[in-house]
Amino acid sequence: MPVKVETYDRVEEAARALSASRSARFLGGGTLVMRAVNAGDQSFDTIIRLRDPDFRTIRMQGDGLVIGAGVTMAALVANRDAVFLAPVARVIGGPAIRNMATVGGNLFASGNYGDLAVALLALGATVQLAGSGSRSMPIDEFLRDRDRHATSLVQSVTVPRPRDPATFRFTKVSRVKPKGVSLMSIAALLPQSGGRVQGARVAYGAMGPMPLRAIAVERALEGQALDAAAIDRAAALAVEGIAPPTDALASSWYRAEVAGVHLKRLLAGERR
Ligand SMILES: Cc1cc2nc3c(=O)[nH]c(=O)nc-3n(C[C@H](O)[C@H](O)[C@H](O)COP(=O)(O)OP(=O)(O)OC[C@H]3O[C@@H](n4cnc5c(N)ncnc54)[C@H](O)[C@@H]3O)c2cc1C
Repeated sequence: MPVKVETYDRVEEAARALSASRSARFLGGGTLVMRAVNAGDQSFDTIIRLRDPDFRTIRMQGDGLVIGAGVTMAALVANRDAVFLAPVARVIGGPAIRNMATVGGNLFASGNYGDLAVALLALGATVQLAGSGSRSMPIDEFLRDRDRHATSLVQSVTVPRPRDPATFRFTKVSRVKPKGVSLMSIAALLPQSGGRVQGARVAYGAMGPMPLRAIAVERALEGQALDAAAIDRAAALAVEGIAPPTDALASSWYRAEVAGVHLKRLLAGERR
């Protein structure tokens, strides 16, 4: 089936075209969309492209960073203001993928993909949707209803920058290094006040249908000094309330077994 390509200069126009058709897909970097086209995916017949340069910019706004949804992983790695996200963007695919893969596309990537979305979830990012229904929402809400946003255009993501970069940690567990996809990824924001954790956010990738928060772990850490005993207690709750999937990389049982080990290393500051 032929696929029609529509190119727009302004984000509002692209958003309108996308929301008007269930058989249209927005084209970010195309690492997943073009793979679907090549595989003969019949679920869409129109590709929407956007040329607006604002869509690919990163700018500071107060204590946060506004990242255009069209910003690539390579651009994130190269941006000084986004240095806290560089360790995440750097482990997404190989160089060719990072040159194309966008922030917006990563929010929709499912299964073993979506590493950046996991980091953004832990950081408490906000997602801005474009068009007539333009609005902002916490990334938790966006991810929960992700399927409902299939015809919405993500314009940008606003990320609070951690005051102390050491309070944000990320690890990607994969079978093949350096380019393998995630068997599991874990991101943690561990702000401290008076030597105790306050406002912890811990997120997993590849542990459910979409990036999700480890609420039991967050609760266990709250108000605690980040010492060995608190880390052990939190790690023991690594998969509390979570049903990890079985896929080609690992079984649900295996994920549940190793989640606590990787979480413990991350909380203890042992990055690998
Ligand atoms: C070989 C290979 C290795 C990969 N490795 C990784 C990895 O290690 N980690 C990882 O996280 N991912 C990985 N990916 C998946 C993918 O490359 C990334 O998740 C990437 O960020 C997706 O972005 P994209 O711009 O290419 O998305 P696209 O393919 O352009 O789009 C993906 C989906 O998102 C929608 N979309 C894109 N942008 C927007 C927007 N602004 N608004 C609304 N909808 C939008 C599209 O319509 C489509 O449904 C890999 C992919 C491949 C092919």
